Amino acid sequence: MQLILMGLPGAGKGTQAEKIKDQYNIPHISTGDMFRLAIKEGTELGIKAKGYMDEGALVPDEVTNGIVEERLSKEDCKNGFLLDGFPRTIPQAKALQEITTRLNQKLDYVIHVDVPEEKLLERLTGRRVCPTCGATYHVVYNPPKEKGICDKDGTELIQREDDTIETVQKRLAVNIEQTKPLLDFYNKQGILVTIDGDQAIDNVFEDIQTSINK
Ligand SMILES: [Zn+2]
Repeated sequence: MQLILMGLPGAGKGTQAEKIKDQYNIPHISTGDMFRLAIKEGTELGIKAKGYMDEGALVPDEVTNGIVEERLSKEDCKNGFLLDGFPRTIPQAKALQEITTRLNQKLDYVIHVDVPEEKLLERLTGRRVCPTCGATYHVVYNPPKEKGICDKDGTELIQREDDTIETVQKRLAVNIEQTKPLLDFYNKQGILVTIDGDQAIDNVFEDIQTSINK
């Protein structure tokens, strides 16, 4: 099973990725892990990528695509893979097509875990952290026993700058704009499956399985 997983921040992609990986016995390949592995193994492309990253520069597509090809060539991808965080752009999506063709692979499905924006806002802005012990809570999904107070040490909880509504809204807007052309691209190819991500974790996973076992 050769899969891509897509979804906005807060959509619960990480949780579903773990379940898919276990159920279908395929590696979960996130962009970050792919870069870390190439750098750790000291491949030519890994060294190049590290050079750009150390300078705080964007890694160019030719390097990123090469690292993807190296990763998908590995033995553990012979049953398939679950890509997460790649491709991000149409040129990368086209490069991925060429890579999979060269490797005699073929994308089966692009799974889009879809959650309405207002739900994502609720999920992402509800997070509270304890500045003393680092414990995290959620005002709706995982509230502390006493409102605004850490269960473990009684410290007053805070909202991180990253979790404020303005920051989250901006982050989502950027992501939506980036994702839309890719969803259209894969929809035209007939391999996009859209999953209702606004339900319990196990139900989301059931829907994913139903859609890709057809
Ligand atoms: Zn605490």
